[in-house]
Amino acid sequence: MTAIDTTTQLGLADSYGRVATDLRVSLTDRCNLRCSYCMPEEGLDWLSKPELLTDDEIVRLVSIAVRQLGVHEIRFTGGEPLLRRGLVGIVARTTELAPRPQVSLTTNGIGLARQAQALKDAGLDRVNVSLDTIRPDTFQQLARRDRIKDVIAGLEAAQTAGLTPVKVNAVLMRGVNDQQAPELLEFCLERGYELRFIEQMPLDAQHGWNRATMVTADEILEQLADRFGLEPTDAATRGSAPAESFTVHGGPQTVGIIASVTRPFCGDCDRVRLTADGQVRDCLFARTESDLRTPLRDGASDEELADRWRRAMWKKLPGHGINDPSFLQPTRPMSAIGG
Ligand code: SAM
Ligand code: SF4
Repeated sequence: MTAIDTTTQLGLADSYGRVATDLRVSLTDRCNLRCSYCMPEEGLDWLSKPELLTDDEIVRLVSIAVRQLGVHEIRFTGGEPLLRRGLVGIVARTTELAPRPQVSLTTNGIGLARQAQALKDAGLDRVNVSLDTIRPDTFQQLARRDRIKDVIAGLEAAQTAGLTPVKVNAVLMRGVNDQQAPELLEFCLERGYELRFIEQMPLDAQHGWNRATMVTADEILEQLADRFGLEPTDAATRGSAPAESFTVHGGPQTVGIIASVTRPFCGDCDRVRLTADGQVRDCLFARTESDLRTPLRDGASDEELADRWRRAMWKKLPGHGINDPSFLQPTRPMSAIGG
């Protein structure tokens, strides 16, 4: 790895030539669902209030990323970001930044029916809602809570409020919803939601991921290809987007597949993450983090924080290594990192 020259380095570059411009900010590690690919039934040891960044601290770090580090996309996530009381205010202050970043939210949709319009009014551009099944019994089995109606109401409210295109994220689990891809796609096409399947990744707190049983992108495509007349969209338009996109029956509607495990896209990655307790993570699978909270609370200037952030990114590894025999799952689960 070459040494970083912070006198000339402006954005969040790494030593392999990638530049991060898309910041995922986790607003809380808490959640009101217990999706089995994410966390155990009993939940986790949540971060305490003093450990969490305050609303002002979040906005300050986001503002440094946007104004000094070239970040132009902000996605708020968690845990469940709708559980964060200050969410609407944080979104409003983020959309007031110049240059104005794109601002979106990844959510399980519970409570979105109530907050969608306020979020739109605060300037939120889009939402991604996670929905893995349209069957109430499968939802209960997978998310361990009887809340599917709230999620569907949240989706409808997002559409009505104009948080569009509304995207839906789905994870398929063997023996649970692995045969339900077609009905989920049908549901989304009828309502104008953009569905993307995400391959299950080894990021669950219980370490239950098993390569031998995970549902692969190829399998999902096999279920959908003929029935929906899928054709790959122009690969050149994919850029750094993780989803491979396919038109349905000649378009314009599409379906996406994010094959992080079987077709990694690390070489094009433009992401950086900030955890709810103020740690920079250069990758979902990183085994190290860089602390911004301590210097922030010790009075560091914006320039000092930006400099630390650049140095943190420079160390990013070329790939996530899931497919290496030596792969070790990160200590923190997806819900604590910010998916
Ligand atoms: N609670 C919100 C939600 O569910 O959308 C935001 C946080 S969640 C960690 C973000 C996304 O990560 C969701 O779409 C979820 O399905 C996905 N996810 C969680 N654990 C995963 C895993 N082990 N593999 C793949 N995707 C996962
Ligand atoms: Fe909660 Fe999202 Fe994890 Fe499901 S995937 S348990 S909704 S954080």
